[in-house]
Amino acid sequence: MIDTPLTIALTKGRILEETLPLLEAADIRPLEDISKSRKLLFETNQKNVRLIVLRGSDVTTYVRYGTADLGIAGKDMLMEYGCESAEACGDQGIYEVLDLGIAKCQLMTAGRVNEAPIRDRRIKVATKFINVAKSYYAEKGVQADIIKLYGAMELAPIMGLADEIIDIVDTGNTLKANGLVPWDAIADISSRLIVNKASMKMKHAAIQSLIDKISSAL
Ligand code: AMP
Repeated sequence: MIDTPLTIALTKGRILEETLPLLEAADIRPLEDISKSRKLLFETNQKNVRLIVLRGSDVTTYVRYGTADLGIAGKDMLMEYGCESAEACGDQGIYEVLDLGIAKCQLMTAGRVNEAPIRDRRIKVATKFINVAKSYYAEKGVQADIIKLYGAMELAPIMGLADEIIDIVDTGNTLKANGLVPWDAIADISSRLIVNKASMKMKHAAIQSLIDKISSAL
């Protein structure tokens, strides 16, 4: 039984299916089927625990502001939207406490089949991971114009909008179907449990117990 009120931010889709059994291990069950509901806020069997369902890119924002005490988000979302340094987040930062080992994939560069990455002139890169892209190419010393897209990144090299893309790759089938191949792996991605730093202090017992239960269920 959790006495302290806790709000946990989740995302719909593939992460949710693998997340619910982990919450169940911590004795947290939503009172209705999240995947079949249009609601965004869900009560649970624990009267002090509620779940909110957000876009992956918004989970870090809710947790950073402490509106949600905990959240589950892909490492790609943390790299792009999270704040890993206290400097960027002030006192309202985030702790990444557990690698849940679910929704595994890779963040990669990719380009047209039978071509090699251009590294001797300025390139165009299409991606939704603007911040990741900026630091990746800066580290490589490659001059890159980053073009923000919100989806269907795979189309950009084929249509001539970009020389390469940065995107999530799982099986590689989406790249292949669009005449692309993976080039460089930027990071291994999986879902992470994150906690608001102030919540971690103020609600320590409840949050630590939840972390321990999820951790032993992994
Ligand atoms: P695949 O064709 O299996 O390589 O899957 C690639 C597409 O699925 C990408 O466009 C991603 O948007 C999406 N995808 C695959 N795995 C994940 C994941 N773990 N998290 C988020 N998106 C994913």
